[in-house]
Amino acid sequence: MSFLIVGAFAPASTVLAVSGDTIVYVTKTGECYHADGCSCLKKSKIETTLQEAVDDGYRACKKCSPGTLDSSSTTTSSSTKTSTK
Ligand SMILES: [Zn+2]
Repeated sequence: MSFLIVGAFAPASTVLAVSGDTIVYVTKTGECYHADGCSCLKKSKIETTLQEAVDDGYRACKKCSPGTLDSSSTTTSSSTKTSTK
């Protein structure tokens, strides 16, 4: 009976869902957006919002985990009934 303790493997990829007006940073050549202080921002650092970054096709950096766009805040499923007659 082999029993492995995997407690050392903490979930490093815990991504928070944050609102779209959160300030994130992108670079000139990168494909990812970053939280402030990420080592990827040494070359260039362009301030933007999370919503803009996602709209432009940027992805969350895996080093600094800036968070992902909270999709529940953008979907307005409660008021989608539009009676256009
Ligand atoms: Zn980063």
